[in-house]
Amino acid sequence: MQKSGWSEFEIGAMLRSFEGATNNIAITHQEDRPYSKSNSFTASVADWRIVKPVFNKEYCIDCQFCWIYCPDISIISRDKKMIGIDMDHCKGCGICVEVCPTNPKSLLMFPEQQDEEAALSEWPAKEKKEN
Ligand code: SF4
Ligand code: SF4
Repeated sequence: MQKSGWSEFEIGAMLRSFEGATNNIAITHQEDRPYSKSNSFTASVADWRIVKPVFNKEYCIDCQFCWIYCPDISIISRDKKMIGIDMDHCKGCGICVEVCPTNPKSLLMFPEQQDEEAALSEWPAKEKKEN
């Protein structure tokens, strides 16, 4: 899709979120929605993020806390299963990591340039609880 910058729109133009019919938009997955070229969903914010969450499926219990608390709807969940992160829209705020309840956490923040496999290889071990 061809994108438009904010200065390319006519003054007073009506900006629509979607192209065409939107009857079932609430139950349509983000990647299947007919976003219009004036919708900010089509723009990435990834180029200014300096830290990113990395997901380690091995420890995830699909509690959905990260999905509930992410302020940017960047956690991708299907059929109540956490399946990944929308890295085009994640701001790197770290809230998902804060709320993840597993031990060790199933999400951890890493520098933006960090290779994902390398991040997974240095995942911390389970912490022992002190009595
Ligand atoms: S780092 Fe912030 S924006 Fe990114 S997935 Fe986690 S909660 Fe959402
Ligand atoms: S908060 Fe952690 S354990 Fe819960 S779904 Fe998200 S990644 Fe999985």
